[in-house]
Amino acid sequence: MIDLGTDRRKWDCEGERPSFFVLHSPFHDFPFSFGLLTFCIMAAKIIDGAALALALRDEVARRIALLGQQGRAVQLTAILVGSTAAGELYAERQRQACRAVGINYELRTFPADITANALANEIQKLNHDPAVSGIMLHLPLPGHLDATAMQYQIDPVKDVEGVNPANIGYVVYGHTLIAPCTALAVIELIKSTGVSLRGAEAVVVGASEIAGKPIALLLTEQMATITLCHIATRDLEQHTRRAEILVVAVGKPGLIGAEAVREGAIVIDVGINRVTQPDGTKKTVGDVDFELVKEHAGWITPVPGGVGPMTVSMLLKNTLRSAELVLPDRDLL
Ligand code: NAP
Repeated sequence: MIDLGTDRRKWDCEGERPSFFVLHSPFHDFPFSFGLLTFCIMAAKIIDGAALALALRDEVARRIALLGQQGRAVQLTAILVGSTAAGELYAERQRQACRAVGINYELRTFPADITANALANEIQKLNHDPAVSGIMLHLPLPGHLDATAMQYQIDPVKDVEGVNPANIGYVVYGHTLIAPCTALAVIELIKSTGVSLRGAEAVVVGASEIAGKPIALLLTEQMATITLCHIATRDLEQHTRRAEILVVAVGKPGLIGAEAVREGAIVIDVGINRVTQPDGTKKTVGDVDFELVKEHAGWITPVPGGVGPMTVSMLLKNTLRSAELVLPDRDLL
């Protein structure tokens, strides 16, 4: 059974009106009352990703200021191929996030018809530029460019998104340089609950290179027991219902309903989906049916306001890490 650290539920039950249900979950260890085994109906604790992200940014800003006092500037250079309104808006938001913590942000925009060789050369130039701490490549790229091949060009030490396959390899071998931002965000959100990951039954739904697989790797590094579910998984709910920690990264709204979640579980919703509501307005939701699942999960991340803001903060933290990795007295491995 998961190590809940302090007995959260004892505290949560205080002041709540007990209901009369018999429950046999190992997550529940409630007092007998009126001759019946009772437990408190309670909603999940919301993991406030936005607040945690702000706290992390403060910490990053503090460390960047320290580097500044030593005369070391931190710079993130982002590459945008082809100029789209969405790409430039995203880059502008990145610039603001960087500015807020003291990172210099540079956007290099290249024409949409740039060749693969020319783009690779530009990345190599940035790799060798000592003023550049970190490099990231905005996606999607135009169809003639292979995103993975271009990400492979980024020096692993400057790879602030953790997308170079070498960085995943370092994670596997226990010498993590820089891990993917979303996976790091998920781990931090889980850790914020105070629940120990060691030996916990963790189920990850979705097995993409950018989200599901790195999340599963980092959870393994934390000594959780992992099940990685994907499109070919038979009887998804049979797995998710077992999970003490459930991470969902698929991109399908409503994929995970209340019946798919174990009582008291930590539920981390990575999904970001735009859906049209009955009144015609648009709304951003995750992959988990938040309103139903929060009624019996132990902790849950909202969408928006959960993994998303934490991922942005992790990009800033990774940029700081890139800058620190090239310090002469770094402790690399
Ligand atoms: P993706 O590349 O489309 O991968 C989705 C994964 O889910 C694939 O492995 C897919 O398998 C699997 N899958 C599809 N249907 C499934 C099902 N019914 N049951 C189990 N697995 C299923 O998407 P992604 O880039 O990983 O992103 C996933 C979601 O997370 C998206 O909503 C995205 O916007 C969001 N996201 C959020 C952040 C953040 O910072 N908050 C970061 C990254 C992604 P197949 O490929 O075999 O179909």
